[in-house]
Amino acid sequence: MNLEWAQRMGTLGTETAFEVLARARNLERQGKHIVHLEIGEPDFDTPAHITEAAIKAMRDGYTHYTPAAGILEARQAVADYVTRTRRIPVKPEHVIIVPGSKNVLLFAMLALVNPGDEVVYPDPGYPIYESVARFVGATLRPIRLREENDFRFDLDEFRSLVGPRTRMVVINSPHNPCGSMLDRADIEAVAAAVLPTRALVLSDEIYAQIAYEGEPYSIASVPGMQDRTIILDGMSKTYAMTGWRVGFGVMRPELVERMAQLMINSSSCAAGFSQIATIAALNGPQDAVTAMVAEFKTRRQIIIDELNRMDGVTCRSPRGAFYAFPNVSVIEPESKRLADFLLEEGGVACLAGTSFGAGGRGFLRFSYANNQENIREGMRRVRGALQRYRPAVAR
Ligand code: PLP
Repeated sequence: MNLEWAQRMGTLGTETAFEVLARARNLERQGKHIVHLEIGEPDFDTPAHITEAAIKAMRDGYTHYTPAAGILEARQAVADYVTRTRRIPVKPEHVIIVPGSKNVLLFAMLALVNPGDEVVYPDPGYPIYESVARFVGATLRPIRLREENDFRFDLDEFRSLVGPRTRMVVINSPHNPCGSMLDRADIEAVAAAVLPTRALVLSDEIYAQIAYEGEPYSIASVPGMQDRTIILDGMSKTYAMTGWRVGFGVMRPELVERMAQLMINSSSCAAGFSQIATIAALNGPQDAVTAMVAEFKTRRQIIIDELNRMDGVTCRSPRGAFYAFPNVSVIEPESKRLADFLLEEGGVACLAGTSFGAGGRGFLRFSYANNQENIREGMRRVRGALQRYRPAVAR
């Protein structure tokens, strides 16, 4: 019997990084050597004191369900952390802890967006924004990020997209996949456009600590905006804890209650020992984070220099996160075709810009969350493969 899927499944998108990783693993099983520059996760180990805290927590019995919104002490640690880093007053009742910050996005849209409500989100952008917006029946209002504008919002275009039907505006700074950041003036202009409407801002700040030039500015810090903002952040990127599945959201307490209800209907809670480890991470020494960011900065220089040396490739220097987003449109505007070639013929896994929306046409995304040697080897292979590459349409 063929299974008949519920209609809503037809609306759900995906994160191509996981698909490309699976294809790369398949090639590896066939004996090919692949350099992995596709997946967006720090290659560092979780700092030892965090792991030790989790082991102790397991021994101390944190192996059971916790309250749906999280252990109070962990919510307090997040509240203190966000108060410190965003300079806004946050209390535990503003915080929900979830198994991966993705849930904050899903729950925010499930709780707030009705079919036909408009959702504005960056294109190129993290593909789950569009996927979930479509899933809840939203009317999609992508805002194009252009290279000539340093992949920031065109504010006139943004203002033209926001109106009475807008329910949610998603911003992401530092940005995946472009590495761009919204300046304070950009953020203030976004806030000014949103405040007269009924829209809320989902501010994806998962890369807030991974910035190389200037400090990211949270829209929640703009006067009047804390109540209108849902901050999405988590442990995955800052503390190299992707597999621990701890994310958090900061928002109005009544929205925390709705999200807790969604937690009760889905995961019940984030793992208790992961939450205790979160306290150790946020309240403990931050030198491992500083060292990781310094290493990312060195790698950024290596990959950007290498890419810009290749014929037909230009790449802006990312201001945050750990992705290079080179323009390869002179070689091949159909980025997927080129990414497939680089994987199959070049032995380098990367993502097509179009995995992040139509605005990514003519771009590729390389993650530099890999060691310097692998990045150099990856770039050597890309250079060689590009010399052999024949575009679909001869120029
Ligand atoms: N937001 C952005 C922009 C991301 O790149 C990611 C992960 O790649 C996430 C959110 C989700 O992270 P997690 O669910 O591991 O907290």
